[in-house]
Amino acid sequence: MRRMGRKFSTKIVIMMKVWDAHGEFCAKHQWEVIVATLALLACAASVERHANHATRSERCAGWARACPGLEAEYQAADAVIMTIVRCAALLYAYYQVSNLQKIASKYLLIIAGVFSTFASFIFTSALASLFWTELASIKDAPFLFLLVTDVARGARMAKAGWSAGDDQGKRVGKALSLLGPTATLDTLLAALLVGVGGLSGVPRLEHMCTFACLALLVDYLVFVTFYPACLSLVADFASGKKELSTDNPFMEADLKPNPVVQRVKMIMAAGLLCVHLTSRWPWTRDSGMLDGSLSNNSNPLPHDNVLLDSYVKWFSVSADYIVIATLLCALIIKFVFFEETRNWVIDMEDMTVKEVVPSEKPVFTIGEDPKADISVQTDDLIGYDETEWPTLSPSASATKLNAKRRPMAECLEIYRSEGLASALTDEEIIMLVEQSHIPLHRLETVLADPLRGVRLRRKVIASRFQTGDAVKSLPYLNYDYSKVMNACCENVIGFVGIPVGYAGPLVVDGKPYMIPMATTEGALVASTNRGAKAIGQRGVTSVVEDIGMTRAPAVKLPNVVRAHECRQWLNNTDNYDLVKEAFDSTSRFARLQEIHIGVDGATLYLRFRATTGDAMGMNMVSKGAENALKVLKNYFPDMEVISLSGNYCSDKKAASINWVKGRGKRVVCETTISSDSLRNIFKTDARTLARCNKIKNLSGSALAGSIGGNNAHAANMVTAIFIATGQDPAQNITSSNCSTSMEVCGDTGEDLYVTCTMPSLEVGTVGGGTVLTGQSACLDILGVRGAAERPAENSAKLGSLICATVLAGELSLMAALVNSDLVKSHMRHNRSAININQAASTTELTLKVPQL
Ligand code: ADP
Repeated sequence: MRRMGRKFSTKIVIMMKVWDAHGEFCAKHQWEVIVATLALLACAASVERHANHATRSERCAGWARACPGLEAEYQAADAVIMTIVRCAALLYAYYQVSNLQKIASKYLLIIAGVFSTFASFIFTSALASLFWTELASIKDAPFLFLLVTDVARGARMAKAGWSAGDDQGKRVGKALSLLGPTATLDTLLAALLVGVGGLSGVPRLEHMCTFACLALLVDYLVFVTFYPACLSLVADFASGKKELSTDNPFMEADLKPNPVVQRVKMIMAAGLLCVHLTSRWPWTRDSGMLDGSLSNNSNPLPHDNVLLDSYVKWFSVSADYIVIATLLCALIIKFVFFEETRNWVIDMEDMTVKEVVPSEKPVFTIGEDPKADISVQTDDLIGYDETEWPTLSPSASATKLNAKRRPMAECLEIYRSEGLASALTDEEIIMLVEQSHIPLHRLETVLADPLRGVRLRRKVIASRFQTGDAVKSLPYLNYDYSKVMNACCENVIGFVGIPVGYAGPLVVDGKPYMIPMATTEGALVASTNRGAKAIGQRGVTSVVEDIGMTRAPAVKLPNVVRAHECRQWLNNTDNYDLVKEAFDSTSRFARLQEIHIGVDGATLYLRFRATTGDAMGMNMVSKGAENALKVLKNYFPDMEVISLSGNYCSDKKAASINWVKGRGKRVVCETTISSDSLRNIFKTDARTLARCNKIKNLSGSALAGSIGGNNAHAANMVTAIFIATGQDPAQNITSSNCSTSMEVCGDTGEDLYVTCTMPSLEVGTVGGGTVLTGQSACLDILGVRGAAERPAENSAKLGSLICATVLAGELSLMAALVNSDLVKSHMRHNRSAININQAASTTELTLKVPQL
């Protein structure tokens, strides 16, 4: 089987090479191929004229023989059907030409495409007049030709060529090697389908289908010879080809046949099959509607109906021409006058082309799945639930391919008059950014479209800093940036995904929880999960104290005496109340609890501590502190505020003040692990664990001079939950302060009593990153999202869940250490296996991955 597969792929490679060489040949001998084709074209045209002249009477006879009921052509029904067919052909051709224009807006290319189609038609007609004389007289030949030919594949080839590199010959060769096999198969399939009509048994239809088959083959030959030559010539002249190749690269999807073309072909084939079947059925012989040969048998019209018949005949013929002519005019007018002003946008992700109305808002596509390529205007989203927004992503907001870049002055005028840049094309906006008229960091605001802002910023920085593919690899779609703007991040160019695992169920205060943990450290979640399992139904009991968030401005007084006076003033209850009033007035939730004052010479560090409801509260306390300082300044005008934060707070730095006085939530958790669980799950006993805890977490940490570090790895659990639930990850420094204690207990002295004390957990369930979609989902999983009925209830619960998880993780790691399991389990869940082996061969990697 494998050998067969290999043979098959070798054949494909050879085939590709042949096409490649052929394309290169056509491109390198462009003039020869073009001149030869033109010469042949001229001959073919004259052959046709000659044949027309020489065999006119013969063909008339032939046609009369083939279609003895020539009169039937003028029957109203026939005329209506033929009009519909012709209109369909015209509309289809129009669609193809506009497609061509959408994919490659170069006029030369359009001309080349249309010309090669025209040449194919002339060749077909010439061949028909030479070998199948009765075919040559088909007056619907042009329409038929329009129906079977695929003009857009020429544009696809151009696109493939431009995406293939700089060498012109190689470009066309590559394009042919990519599109040649598809075109061959397509032609064969289409010829087979149309061939069904050729066997229909209806003479006129048979002729039409034979002509169509011939047209398909000729069109194919022109496509693989004349068109590549033309293309290389056009590529030479076309300016801005680089633009095309970067903005609109050839994608694998382009090799897939156009669904509309396929649909039209299928409908045609089905129609022909129907005609084929009905014409062979006995009853059709009586009706004689389709088979012209039978119309001779129909009764001649009564004499008094002759006049009426001639009117009907005249009307049907005239109506036919009137309808066709009107349609043709309408299409030409539409193409010439209106096509250019339409804003065609190209979806950079799935390379589909969409239209945006001039007053456009961005086009959104649902998901990244090309199959779910449903585009809707944002107008359609009015009344749409905003919470569902993240699943929608504007993928092609306004890459208007055909819209010409307006001059700088005009763009500036539009931008300044509207105050927004949303009416400008991507190209125009980038131009304004490059000329410093729009600050790069303000893109989302001036566009009033966060995703478009992010997309354009990526483009700008990719070219400005030559980051190219590196930025492209950073994900950015399917993310609700509206929640990020002015809240969580600036200069956004995308996001990184961090896997979220769960540990649990972990029973805390009698209730089971699944704890979401965002981490890239293998074994962490599994280890915590083991701890939760050992805790089991007994669960963890927690106590939470809302200490409050702190902010400590540094203020300087002229001398130590004034500094002392200031301290005394603040220690007075009435004065404190004055300051508290000012502080509390800044928020519904901020409530000042204490001003703890540190002294260093004439400098005072005023550590404001306030409860902040369910918010972590850093902003809230800063605002309050600032207002309080204003009041203080009224009484001490000689006081100078050195810094709103004097590092006595202390935020995001290791400091014993938080360990001693607490910050945020102070949480204490306890549990007892039975000797059975210790034996069965941890493969150890209480005494061993308690001993290790004393030596490692107490003595070892003391020896290291650690502050708040009397634990095994609290920061692991804290940070994983912080990232999952949208906490400030940098606050893991203070928040990871933890003292883990283990004692032997129980009647038999074989159970283990464990506590974790965390005096400074800085957590919140409103504000900051908690509003982001994924993070708020994790808070929801824990049932603590947003503001609780009683202020701080949710944030306190989150604190106790974090502490309980820390306890589970501590237990598990300590057990692994006493069993010397640490290295073993890390090898089993070895997150670094991929990194280590990245340099090694792929085979080795595939062998290692299943062990992970
Ligand atoms: P932080 O102060 O933690 O940095 P923010 O600056 O976002 O967070 O402040 C929290 C915001 O949320 C404040 O504007 C506050 O009024 C509002 N808020 C709404 N409900 C609550 C709540 N229950 N607890 C705290 N803040 C709340």
